[in-house]
Amino acid sequence: MKIGILSRNRHLYSTRRLIEAAEARGHKVQVIDVLRCYMKIQPHQPEIWYRGRKLEGFDAVIPRIGASVTFYGTAVVRQFEMQGVYTLNESVAITRARDKLRALQLLARKGVGLPRTGFAHAPDDTEGVMQLVGGAPMVIKLIEGTQGQGVVLAETANAASSVIEAFRGLDAYFLVQEFVGEARGSDIRCFVVGGEVVAAMQRTACEGEFRSNLHRGGSATPMEITPAERRTALRAARIMGLNVAGVDLLRSKSGPMVMEVNSSPGLEGIEAASGIDIAGAIIGFVEANARPGRTKTKGRG
Ligand code: ADP
Repeated sequence: MKIGILSRNRHLYSTRRLIEAAEARGHKVQVIDVLRCYMKIQPHQPEIWYRGRKLEGFDAVIPRIGASVTFYGTAVVRQFEMQGVYTLNESVAITRARDKLRALQLLARKGVGLPRTGFAHAPDDTEGVMQLVGGAPMVIKLIEGTQGQGVVLAETANAASSVIEAFRGLDAYFLVQEFVGEARGSDIRCFVVGGEVVAAMQRTACEGEFRSNLHRGGSATPMEITPAERRTALRAARIMGLNVAGVDLLRSKSGPMVMEVNSSPGLEGIEAASGIDIAGAIIGFVEANARPGRTKTKGRG
């Protein structure tokens, strides 16, 4: 097969591993920087051009779209879909998952466990929305943040009001969320490939930090997840319509709660912690599923 990996940097661990796994199985791989793709949108003949040449003949593309290029990146993925090229994760699914508010609304509709979450526009409603999530301590997070950036723990109502005021001053939309303290700075990353949790790890925040992101100094250890956690992770990926997803869960008193569903989950931490060849599992899934015209929107919303 000819596989395109949509990635801005071929030297990133995840991209390298996907190239390695695909080549080891005899596929031809091209790494494509989405920001250098340009498109011709015309009836029946959607074209994608790259550094002066028309891109053609791909059997599948694997999107690894960074958060800062979501809009352009998903437009390129969509153009491949218009050509009938199989995309591992579809543009609409990536868009759903990227918007934390939209993702939580879709998960909530299907009854998936979530931390109590509120959203408000008007400054006059700050007090009201803080009450809806049970008051301080609470977590305030930017809707489009990643890797723990823009996620703040406010221990008191006063601290929460100050953070909210600051975010409003920046014209940024944010969620207000119940702080799940019993998770004690740990969360669970479930790596889903095609309806299976292929690996899971526990991420624990470093001393004095509540965010367990590995980019924030968190540490990872392999872990056994419970059947309820497995079910929740698989449902979350399915509701988003993602074939490959990193589902982040908190272990709470009332069962697993989904914090977010990542559409381009990193491979480095989870392969190191679990020792599992996840890149190989992803390429295996592509082999089994990529057919021309096999793009169809899954999930809702
Ligand atoms: P990002 O997309 O930036 O990683 P998350 O919503 O996943 O943002 O939050 C980052 C980290 O902060 C999580 O991995 C988790 O450790 C911690 N965290 C986020 N929300 C909560 C919450 N409601 N209760 C407890 N910890 C949380």
